[in-house]
Amino acid sequence: MRVLKFGGTSVGSVQNMNNVKSIINDGDKKIVVLSAMSGTTNALVNIASKISEGNKNEASTEINNLYNKYVDVVNELIIDNSLKEVVSEYVSERFEFLNECVEKSFSQVVENEILAQGELLSTFMFNKFLQQQGVNSQLLPALDFMRINEVKEPDSEAIKSLLDNVLTFTPEADIYITQGFICLDSNGDVSNLQRGGSDYTATIVGAAINAEEVQIWTDIDGMHNNDPRFVEGTKPISDLSFDEAAELAYFGAKILHPQTVLPVRKDGIPVRLKNTMNPPAHGTLISKNHVESGIKAIAAKDGITAIKIKSGRMLQAYGFLRKVFEIFEANKTSIDMITTSEVAVSLTIDDDSNLGAIIEELETFSTIEVDRNQSIVCLVGHSIVDHKNTFKLFQILKDVNIRMISYGGSRNNISLLIDTEKKVDTLQKLNEYLFELVAI
Ligand code: ASP
Repeated sequence: MRVLKFGGTSVGSVQNMNNVKSIINDGDKKIVVLSAMSGTTNALVNIASKISEGNKNEASTEINNLYNKYVDVVNELIIDNSLKEVVSEYVSERFEFLNECVEKSFSQVVENEILAQGELLSTFMFNKFLQQQGVNSQLLPALDFMRINEVKEPDSEAIKSLLDNVLTFTPEADIYITQGFICLDSNGDVSNLQRGGSDYTATIVGAAINAEEVQIWTDIDGMHNNDPRFVEGTKPISDLSFDEAAELAYFGAKILHPQTVLPVRKDGIPVRLKNTMNPPAHGTLISKNHVESGIKAIAAKDGITAIKIKSGRMLQAYGFLRKVFEIFEANKTSIDMITTSEVAVSLTIDDDSNLGAIIEELETFSTIEVDRNQSIVCLVGHSIVDHKNTFKLFQILKDVNIRMISYGGSRNNISLLIDTEKKVDTLQKLNEYLFELVAI
């Protein structure tokens, strides 16, 4: 069986839902993972924040605006009168629930319950729409099998056995529809896999059923070799290995949730990135095969903070790095890049919520410099560090002020840390010289 995931735009309008229907209705049994309709999760985040600030009236107005949008969609999507009644009733119930949340005292659990409504709505509506069109489909409620543990990682054992069970007790269907993003945590409360988490749901489900393939359908022809928002003329990459895709997703390629390939990498289940607006296009195939070497793609991640930790003697003083890392660990902050010299170590983090405490502890034995507004530009390709063209990178970047460089941490990745204000210029230069083959 294959697992197909469709993002918010793919279910964002009645016409797009029709497109999805023609893609999935090919006679093959499959599990379809859906996001919320585009714009819904952002609206729900907004509603939750209004409630948390005590702005009840504004929250109610936004709930009402969103409700009106759904009423319009239901009217257009469901023509069959008895089905329309069922769907309208479900939509009303979900919005009643949101209205009740306005009166509850706010907590993380309430926020997660609010965010979960988007996927509950899109899957219910889409399933009924398929049934109206004569497709044999059934819902698999994600909250019946998607589980995360105490450290918010998917609990793959529990997911596998619960999903087996749910599939056994669900009436036989050609298409099973489930919610992306949402899950229960180890306390049994509603939680989620973070923004964009439906991709992750798809590969978690793919691993649980040992799928023959996982397909992630978006509105672009696969992963591009540079960021199409900032660089013109980017091209889709036809093949990527799991390692290459993992590096790109983590370091900024927006098309995939950073964790997406992890669940399927071990079993080598291929992941195909496809375009709902252009189904025949090849897209990107992520698999265990390494096709060609050299620089394949560039991605950039913003919001990075660099910390330089200086101490009289560092490398000779054994135990120094351990002390540094323990401080980050104790403050639940992960480190992305790291470079060292005899007197200093520089490292980067993408979550600075505990930076104050970290600095305070580091300052007890070293001098600290902090640079904010940094970006990591990541170049990815199989054996990139050995490739004969990689030297060009340094010639191209002679005009860019590189704050840190990580070369050889993995054979597939070279990362540069630069000021965010230089990012677009750097991405464009790299594109021109590395992919458009301008002679240096
Ligand atoms: N609806 C969620 C979000 O917007 C999850 C997803 O779409 O992947 O982040």
